[in-house]
Amino acid sequence: MSPMLLLLLKHALMLLICIAGDKLQLVVQKPHLLRAVIDNASHALIGLIASEIVVHHYKDHLGRSQMYGLIATGCVLSSVIDLDHFIEAKSFHLEDATSLSRRPFLHNSSIFMALLGSIVVAVSLPQHLLASLWLSVTFVAFFTHQLRDAIRRGFWFRAPYLDYSTAPVIYWVYLVLTQLCPHALIQLLSMQVRKGRMVPVTGDHDVKYKPLDVV
Ligand SMILES: [Zn+2]
Repeated sequence: MSPMLLLLLKHALMLLICIAGDKLQLVVQKPHLLRAVIDNASHALIGLIASEIVVHHYKDHLGRSQMYGLIATGCVLSSVIDLDHFIEAKSFHLEDATSLSRRPFLHNSSIFMALLGSIVVAVSLPQHLLASLWLSVTFVAFFTHQLRDAIRRGFWFRAPYLDYSTAPVIYWVYLVLTQLCPHALIQLLSMQVRKGRMVPVTGDHDVKYKPLDVV
C-alpha cells in the first residue's frame, strides 16, 4: 500500500470516528454511562490516529517502544482528560461529574497554548526531536479533545487576569482542524530536523513533505 493511500485511509477513519461518535451521542441519550463511554472512546480514537500520523512520520528516528509509547500516550491522555470532571466534583458518580457549574481544570485551553509554545522552544534546540515529539503527542491529546468539546461549549481560556470562553466552534471547522492538527505539527517539527542537520524522513515508505519556508 502506498504511503499516500495509507495516510488517506487514516484521515478517512478519523473523519468517520468524529462524525459517527457525534451522531451516536445524539442517538444514545441514555443510559448516561453508555453515552459517556461513546464520548470518551471517540476522544481516545481521534487522539490515537492523530498521534500515530505525527509519530509515523518520524519512525526511522525512533525505536519500536518509543513509537508505541508516544502513540499510546496520545491516545490515553485524550481519554483521561475527562477525569478532571470527577476530580472537580469530588465524586465517583457520573451525574455529579457531568453537572458541574464550571469547566474543569484540564479543559482550560491555555494548556494547549502553553504546550504549543513549549514545542516552538523545543524545536529551536537541535537534537531534541524526542522531547518535541513527547510535547507534540501531549498537544494532540489536549487540542483534539478540547476542540471536540468546543463544538458544544467553545474554548475556555483561564489564566491570571483571564477567564474567557469563545463561542462554540462551527462543526465543519472542527472537522477540518482535527485533520490538519497532525500535519501542522509535522511542519513545525520539520524545522527542528533541519536545524539539527538530520536527514529529513523522506524514505520510500513515507509521504514526502515539503517543509514550508520560514522567513
Ligand atoms: Zn472533555
